Amino acid sequence: MNEEAEDLLVRGVATAKNKEPEEARHYLEWALRLDPDPSQTQEAWYWLSEVSIDPTEKRSWLENILAYNPGDARARRSLAILDGKLNPAEIIDPDKVKQQAAGSPQTADARRFICPKCGGRMTYTPDGLSLTCEYCAAHEPITPDKNQPGNQDFLIVMATAKGHIAPTQAYTLVCQGCGANFILLPQELTITCPYCGSAYVLKSQALRNLIQPSAVLPLVVSESQAQQALHDWLQSRHLRMLVHVSKGVGVYLPFWDFNISGQVSWRYQVQEQKNWVDQSGLDVVYLSNILAPATTRLCKACLPVLQSYNLKALVDYDLRYLSNWPAETYQVEVGDASLDARQTALAVEKQRAQQKVPVAAKNLVFDSSCMLVDSFKLVLLPLWMTCVSREDGRKFDVVINGQTAQVFGEWD
Ligand SMILES: [Zn+2]
Ligand SMILES: [Zn+2]
Repeated sequence: MNEEAEDLLVRGVATAKNKEPEEARHYLEWALRLDPDPSQTQEAWYWLSEVSIDPTEKRSWLENILAYNPGDARARRSLAILDGKLNPAEIIDPDKVKQQAAGSPQTADARRFICPKCGGRMTYTPDGLSLTCEYCAAHEPITPDKNQPGNQDFLIVMATAKGHIAPTQAYTLVCQGCGANFILLPQELTITCPYCGSAYVLKSQALRNLIQPSAVLPLVVSESQAQQALHDWLQSRHLRMLVHVSKGVGVYLPFWDFNISGQVSWRYQVQEQKNWVDQSGLDVVYLSNILAPATTRLCKACLPVLQSYNLKALVDYDLRYLSNWPAETYQVEVGDASLDARQTALAVEKQRAQQKVPVAAKNLVFDSSCMLVDSFKLVLLPLWMTCVSREDGRKFDVVINGQTAQVFGEWD
């Protein structure tokens, strides 16, 4: 560390925090002239950006920092404010958010799906194409938006309360069909009136303080197709006669879909003659569609279903795909899930790196500190869930991918 520069830097930062911009600039620029080390340089740039009132100058300091270190959270956050993508008033202290009380249920703003011809219930047909009236069979086609569903900037969301809370607000709903009053649990996005069968989907506006789903993969596996797939799966394990299968339910469950970028580096040692010699390598990371569960409903044995979706078929979130199907929003916070996603990404990168490292190498160590969660979206994926019980009374969960009809579950 450059001691002299450090001394000036300390004064520069103190005066900047004390709102004395001229003093601060004086010390910080002085520190920069003394050939400080990279971390001192970036610190000086950051505080110069803080004291500057000229947006162009501010931006250029911040961009300097990001050129060195694209993952610098402080610089990215300041740049997001400068770009108007982040409202400083919404920045929170994550440790204080957790304590927010849930409060009493609010009235839900939900859309009811009824047939324009006969007033019957309109249900999403698991074909990806239409809603159908259960009484007069009228069809309403769904033309999906061709846009690629948008991603959200991870660091910006993590700077606001949205990144740190999962839904805790319950809703009450008065059925427009029969007047009955009932409650939606915090994670529920849809409800079917238990008395008259009206189908409701919560409107996105109701979730405005939370992260809203931005994409949905339409369910295209019907109940009978799911049953057939399960039948074949059990048959292939010679289990058909031994078990009882509960009635399955088609649901949409929430998942976080992350894009991860940056770089991963590694070090190892190889033997050259009698000495062990240090070697290193690095890889640029760009991984998209790394999924992590936002639900706690899936058992461990069912989690591999995550790898079985073709996410190219995602469409913009549209309430109609959910009509008369259970659907949930997230119960796992995006920050927590991002740790899982990083693990998954690191495992992928490690495998890739192994091919570049000699087999006889030892002490292989990875550094993933420059690998970043860049952006993400909340997606709803379709599946059929059921439970299989054996003759001896033991049970296990089975899920069937609602897009491909692949079956996942445990059988020991
Ligand atoms: Zn109808
Ligand atoms: Zn009702």
